[in-house]
Amino acid sequence: MRIVEETPYRFRIDRTGAMRVPGIVFAARSLLPAAEGDEALTQVANVATLPGIVTASFAMPDVHWGYGFPIGGVAATDIDDGGVVSPGGVGFDISCGVRLLIARDADRSALAPRLGPLMDRLGHVVPRGMQTRGVWELPNRTVLHEVLEGGARFAVQQGHGVVRDLERCEDRGVLDGADPAAVSDRAVERGLGQLGSLGSGNHFLEVQAVERIFDPDTARPMGLDVGTVCVMIHCGSRGLGHQICTDHVREMGKAMGRYGIHVPDRQLACVPVRSPEGEAYLGAMVAAANYGRANRQLLTEAARRVFEDTAGTTLDLLYDISHNLAKLERHEVDGRLRTLCVHRKGATRSLPPRHPDVPADLVDVGQPVLIPGTMGTASYVLAGIAGNPAFYSTAHGAGRVQSRHRAARHTDGRAVRDALESHGVLVRGSSWRGLAEEKPQAYKDIDAVTEVSERAGLARRVARLVPLGVVKG
Ligand code: 5GP
Ligand code: MN
Ligand code: MN
Repeated sequence: MRIVEETPYRFRIDRTGAMRVPGIVFAARSLLPAAEGDEALTQVANVATLPGIVTASFAMPDVHWGYGFPIGGVAATDIDDGGVVSPGGVGFDISCGVRLLIARDADRSALAPRLGPLMDRLGHVVPRGMQTRGVWELPNRTVLHEVLEGGARFAVQQGHGVVRDLERCEDRGVLDGADPAAVSDRAVERGLGQLGSLGSGNHFLEVQAVERIFDPDTARPMGLDVGTVCVMIHCGSRGLGHQICTDHVREMGKAMGRYGIHVPDRQLACVPVRSPEGEAYLGAMVAAANYGRANRQLLTEAARRVFEDTAGTTLDLLYDISHNLAKLERHEVDGRLRTLCVHRKGATRSLPPRHPDVPADLVDVGQPVLIPGTMGTASYVLAGIAGNPAFYSTAHGAGRVQSRHRAARHTDGRAVRDALESHGVLVRGSSWRGLAEEKPQAYKDIDAVTEVSERAGLARRVARLVPLGVVKG
């Protein structure tokens, strides 16, 4: 495969074979996937063969190998020109995402003496690990259907949060078009007990402090200053989303031939957006997205109670954004406004200032972009900017350089915890293996990833946050 360096922050994979568009990778040389067995760039090229894809198959600076599509991949298809939807372009953890809460009345130094008890309480009340039950066990399927249709809005209506939370959620906390009938019994079964839980090791609830401000004029209206205490929550749609992905990949694999679609990798199973199978997937995906938003809303409430009791401070929501989702959006391509199915898999939507979907009180600065790094290094807040060439998308994390398996091979989770605690990060884990898989060395350099995001014209850095304590899935 030939990779052309267009600029120090932008690489092109030229069209060959069945590719319909080029691949564009936003990265610095030092961030390009190099790890043995990392097929991420081949995956970028494979995605470029999808029917209806427009402009390019994009990769963000945190790109790494994923199921079919790379993680850190963005692909948009024209739904009126045979454009397809592919569950592999969303990922198994549908609507996995991040929200950031800001402590109103306690800064880093005020919180310091109470951090231990605070982390103990958080460790006690935040359900995590693979098979755990969530903080809100739904009594029956009728209520689950309300979650699937109402998302975080339904959670708030039921008393789990305040109305202002919804103003600071992507899509005001709920996506239209959920189709509970396209959600299997098995998925429903898995969803009933897990609402309000983190899930496994890459998911977390982390107490952080702002350590550096890059852009004071944007940080101020966002409520961020040096020393501000924040809570970052990263989780998704648990077993429900996973089951939906599994079910629909199977159905699409069977249906694909009927639409005359051939893909270079079975994991790229896809069908036209405008087809019964495509609509069923999108309806189920939206249901999972709403479940994921309600999930983060419930964990927010759990964290709020702990902060109020232990530290006497309120937590305000800065923003909640998914990084695993396909959305129907209007974009101009080749001088024509078109309806595209924009797949973002391990990529964060980042809308510029003035965009109508940015919360009203942040419209001058752009949408907050939340990028976790690792539990031992840093995480970032960025803001969307005009002129983003990737359908308003940017990175979603540091991105792995080592697979889970490789990260855990010669590492004991106890040593990972000890190293973190010796650097002042309090760890409330759920398994030693999980901690080993998530060691900071398993990820790329988050400072480099966010700097490249800025230099490549994807987003603008606003603040750097460092971890104080982490509740790990
Ligand atoms: P993913 O959604 O791909 O599983 O994870 C998104 C990103 O979260 C990863 O690329 C990684 O940079 C980041 N991440 C994983 N674990 C932690 C953690 O414990 N703390 C922080 N701050 N970031 C994490
Ligand atoms: Mn996830
Ligand atoms: Mn995620």
